[in-house]
Amino acid sequence: MQTFDLLIIGSGPGGYVAAIRAAQLGMKTALVERYNTLGGTCLNVGCIPSKALLDSSERYHEAQTTFEEHGIGVGQLKLNLSKMIERKNAVVSQTVSGIDYLMKKNRIEVFHGHAAFENDKTVRISRKGKEDQLVQAERFIIATGSKPKVPPSFHYDKKRIITSTEALQLDKLPKQLLVVGAGVIGLELGSVFARLGTEVTVIEYLDRALPTMDKDCSKEILRPLKKLGMKFLFNHQVHEAKTQGRKAVVALQKREGGEPFQLKADYCLVAIGRRPYTDGLHLAKAGLKTDERGFIPVNEKLQTAKEHIYAIGDVVGGAMLAHKAEEEGVFVVEQLAGQQPALHYDRIPSVVYTWPEVASVGRTEEELKKAGIPYKAGKFPFRALGRARASGDLDGMVKVLAHKENDEILGIHIVGARAADLIAMAVSLLEYRASAEDAARMTYPHPTFAEALKEAALAAWDGKPLHI
Ligand code: FAD
Ligand code: NAD
Repeated sequence: MQTFDLLIIGSGPGGYVAAIRAAQLGMKTALVERYNTLGGTCLNVGCIPSKALLDSSERYHEAQTTFEEHGIGVGQLKLNLSKMIERKNAVVSQTVSGIDYLMKKNRIEVFHGHAAFENDKTVRISRKGKEDQLVQAERFIIATGSKPKVPPSFHYDKKRIITSTEALQLDKLPKQLLVVGAGVIGLELGSVFARLGTEVTVIEYLDRALPTMDKDCSKEILRPLKKLGMKFLFNHQVHEAKTQGRKAVVALQKREGGEPFQLKADYCLVAIGRRPYTDGLHLAKAGLKTDERGFIPVNEKLQTAKEHIYAIGDVVGGAMLAHKAEEEGVFVVEQLAGQQPALHYDRIPSVVYTWPEVASVGRTEEELKKAGIPYKAGKFPFRALGRARASGDLDGMVKVLAHKENDEILGIHIVGARAADLIAMAVSLLEYRASAEDAARMTYPHPTFAEALKEAALAAWDGKPLHI
């Protein structure tokens, strides 16, 4: 039986990054993945393919709507969706083969097959057509990720009732698409199809899009999405979705009463969150169990009830984000190597790759209010920036929230062009516990979108932005 210092189950951003760091720190490391390709949800059916389609569809939409204003005539535009999907598949396969390379380079033993605990020191790896393998390790990291949440009444058949996984593969453009959930997936994939010409209706249970983000972000992103033609039904709950012939039929109702009614479309994309995935892992054989929501409980060191078994990423809950999973992987492995790493959950950024993008780090205004923390807010609109006028990306704003008494920045929220990249700077400001004055006094290159951050920091610090 092969024996390792560390065996990691699941090769998503949590698992494969943990494997690399463990190998770098001298551990004899193995990684088990049930699929043929490495990279997990993020690389295969999540971050990377969705961003490839977001980029392609944004180019198409730009060519259709703004090229002319820039003095560029392109004649009759033609959409080749199959080619767009082919390109996306090529991006995915290049990216996942990059992980194969990294595993080899770091001499990580990769097993393809489904891992299940035999006991708390041994895992059985099974693969169709192959004999099972038993593998032992001193320590384990469970990084088995998540799957789309689809209640039974949604009759998920992958035909007309689909999740993000199938939506990323549609090579015939739907005329109409119903999206359940105005969260991250609903807005990202909804905008992909809206840009290409599909009539998209998003049904959301709560009263706004992106309900976990700062309210101003929800408000600000809605205008450009509506401009795309996306329709929103807020305060509506979907009870049932099913395939009828070649249509998806969705039964819904206003949240506070109202007559139930039906909507029909070519597809219904269910985007109401993801559930932790531990199916067939036989946690009980290792002396472990999940909580009532299916997550694996862990302590602040990310140890499970067995101190030599750790769990990270989507399967432990918290923000279901690739970079959160990665940081947790590194955090666990560095502890195992005797280091003293730190994880700052309150400074994990989140990004929605619509256009304009939405990006956020730290506390929202609603959270500060609820916690009774005295704060001041500074806002600056993108439309007042020279850079935004030059490119025509006028929608959006930056909002800086700082402590009312000591001026420490507590949250930064951005809707606007390149917000996804700007937020990295906001993360450093929070990491180094900068004040709004610090952020306002730095020199920012001109003309850039980043200048909106300086102006919002000025607005938060002394209420006097320069260009408005
Ligand atoms: P996963 O990536 O889910 O990987 C878990 C792996 O474990 C899988 O490969 C699975 O096959 C394997 N596995 C499970 N059980 C077993 C077993 N018993 N034996 C062997 N292998 C097993 N996050 C971002 O930060 N940015 C984005 O832009 C973004 N876009 C997204 C877009 C979409 C459409 C979706 C669905 C998600 C997106 N996410 C994004 C979320 C991100 O993909 C996840 O947060 C991230 O992949 C979680 O990483 P993980 O390592 O915990 O798990
Ligand atoms: P989400 O949690 O972001 O949004 C789900 C939405 O569905 C919520 O607004 C919720 O109120 C609504 N909802 C729930 N039940 C409903 C019902 N019956 N009727 C109407 N609305 C209902 O979930 P998601 O969009 O499915 O994304 C799943 C996870 O994937 C998220 O945690 C996210 O972090 C991750 N993800 C991240 C990115 C990114 O980082 N850019 C992209 C895609 C996905």
